[in-house]
Amino acid sequence: VKKIGVLTSGGDAPGMNAAIRGVVRTALSEKLEVFGVYDGYLGLYENRMKQLDRYSVSDMINKGGTFLGSARFSDFYKKKIRSIAANNVKKRKIDGLVVIGGDGSYIGAQKLTEIGVPCISIPGTIDNDVAGTDYTIGYFTALQTVVEAIDRLRDTSSSHQRISIVEVMGRYCGDLTLAAAIAGGCEFIVLPEIHYTKEELVIEIEAGIAKGKKHAIVAITEYICDVEKLARYIQKKTNRETRATILGHIQRGGAPVVYDRILASRMGAYAVELLIQGHQGKCVGVQNEKMVFNDITNALKNMKRTFKRDWLITAKKLY
Ligand code: ATP
Repeated sequence: VKKIGVLTSGGDAPGMNAAIRGVVRTALSEKLEVFGVYDGYLGLYENRMKQLDRYSVSDMINKGGTFLGSARFSDFYKKKIRSIAANNVKKRKIDGLVVIGGDGSYIGAQKLTEIGVPCISIPGTIDNDVAGTDYTIGYFTALQTVVEAIDRLRDTSSSHQRISIVEVMGRYCGDLTLAAAIAGGCEFIVLPEIHYTKEELVIEIEAGIAKGKKHAIVAITEYICDVEKLARYIQKKTNRETRATILGHIQRGGAPVVYDRILASRMGAYAVELLIQGHQGKCVGVQNEKMVFNDITNALKNMKRTFKRDWLITAKKLY
């Protein structure tokens, strides 16, 4: 292995820059050449790549987003487009690629590996929804952001004796919502992993009001329901003013917290080591604080993330 490439794909996440830096600096210290690919698989297809040196990643450890840019590029589902991208890599004599992104990006990396571009993927998404790792890069930063938002909502919710509904990202994974709910002191939690009806939620909230709770914050994961409609329903049933807040892309931004910087640096370094050792079609993970790797296909098809049911039970006890 003499020359490698690195790209970021899918939704951006704080810590992606730290991961790119980890890849670049490790590769250089192993005397490899490194190319940065702009805008994920789109830039790979359009052949937009640039050689990086150690100064290309200076002042990047603490920056949110990704300086290489990211993209959702649906044409990459097409075999013909992927083969053009693979040829661009081969023409430059790039021996392997590090792909930083979520599970969609993992599929792209696996498909590239199958057509002769050895890839190692790194989990970069705030959703913490990728199998084969305890944590994804960006998750802890987003968690901090969500909890700070909940703290602010608590102030106003408490002052006006309101019910607040806060919609948290995570796609179909409730990790971010559940952890933020515990840290933010929310007892009303609606997650994709658990059965939910608005009628049961109202019963829970009313029980809280009956106990003397002056306000309530409901943490709910995105895509479960229309939270504005839910707010109107709760207000009608409880007679309490109810407001919904969709946190949205605020959750994706900001400087990465310490844990994400460390995780990203370690994963970046580890991915390069795996490429040097001749691995391909693997994804990097952290399990019990140790770096691990798995087959991408295995992680995507067979390794299920376990839902932290005990966390939910604890959260409910703090009612
Ligand atoms: P996040 O979790 O933050 O949304 P992600 O990596 O899961 O990140 P996606 O939009 O699902 O985000 O995937 C990123 C890109 O990976 C896609 O836009 C596409 O270019 C590529 N990709 C996803 N699925 C496939 C697939 N089945 N075949 C080929 N390429 C794919």
